[in-house]
Amino acid sequence: PGAASVIDGKAAAALIDSHVKAGVAQLESRLGRAPCLAVVLVGEDPASQVYVRNKVKRTEAAGMRSIEIRRDARIEEAELVGIVEALNADDAVDGILVQMPLPGHIDPYRVVETIDPDKDVDGLTATSAGRLVQGAPGLRPCTPSGCVWLARQALGELSGKSVVVIGRSILVGKPAAFLFLEQNCTVMLSHSRTLDLPEHCARADIVVAAAGRPEMVKGAWIKEGACVLDVGINRVDAPEKGEGGTKLVGDVAYDEAARRAGFITPVPGGIGPMTIAFLLVNTLKAAAARAGLAQPE
Ligand code: NDP
Repeated sequence: PGAASVIDGKAAAALIDSHVKAGVAQLESRLGRAPCLAVVLVGEDPASQVYVRNKVKRTEAAGMRSIEIRRDARIEEAELVGIVEALNADDAVDGILVQMPLPGHIDPYRVVETIDPDKDVDGLTATSAGRLVQGAPGLRPCTPSGCVWLARQALGELSGKSVVVIGRSILVGKPAAFLFLEQNCTVMLSHSRTLDLPEHCARADIVVAAAGRPEMVKGAWIKEGACVLDVGINRVDAPEKGEGGTKLVGDVAYDEAARRAGFITPVPGGIGPMTIAFLLVNTLKAAAARAGLAQPE
């Protein structure tokens, strides 16, 4: 009890970033330019500002070029689509990311679908999703890629492992299910209408919690020795921090789950940092694939 190894997502992300940096240096000498990621940010959402700042910082730290395009929240959908089309046409741009959420008058699906699938470093276009389902080469969503990487790091070979994914969003749950399937896991994809979730979790070697529900996964649900990957990021009241204090918690009741799990990711510092690491991996992959070069490892 109390014996779970805490998975250090920050250290894992730093390791991946350093591999990307080495790959960038190699590719740059063959391309004659640095791989380039373009990030489009609409409006003033404070969380989005922080995410974009971190993405730009880590892109540049890995030796890649970063283009940041900022527009006022009142931008018309057609103009935003035009910006994405111009980035598609720009041969020096390898990856395109449109930061979500977009203002309510813009259809995010239409904007995402405009992105050239070969530059779709978030892996969110219908084409990228289709390639994932078909097992064809393509760009995979970043957060679930981070989950698989950490699970492999913790457990080694994943073939035959049973996985319960909690949440079926396009961004996390569904791609996580297919990525673990690709590793020859047996996957159960659960959601808000799933019955008997605790019983399903009790059989799982790996639990991926991505419901956006603070501490919903209880310690008693977890199989002894399981690998628990907590994707959730929830801001909750923390009266212990004084009047109006808040803190971040995951979708897993961490202390009790850590007493049963073999491996567990904390929030923050677990899955979170892995998302940007795989954004950089995808940008490098996109740059290599677009140039017809072998994918750097
Ligand atoms: P969504 O809100 O899009 O999806 C949540 C999913 O969870 C839905 O499929 C929903 O089911 C399911 N769900 C909700 N309540 C329950 C429940 N009680 N039992 C089982 N399933 C439930 O969220 P996202 O997938 O975008 O994100 C999930 C969480 O991960 C959020 O906290 C988000 O902040 C975080 N996140 C973290 C990232 C990171 O970098 N670490 C990146 C992306 C997200 P149904 O479909 O039936 O409604």
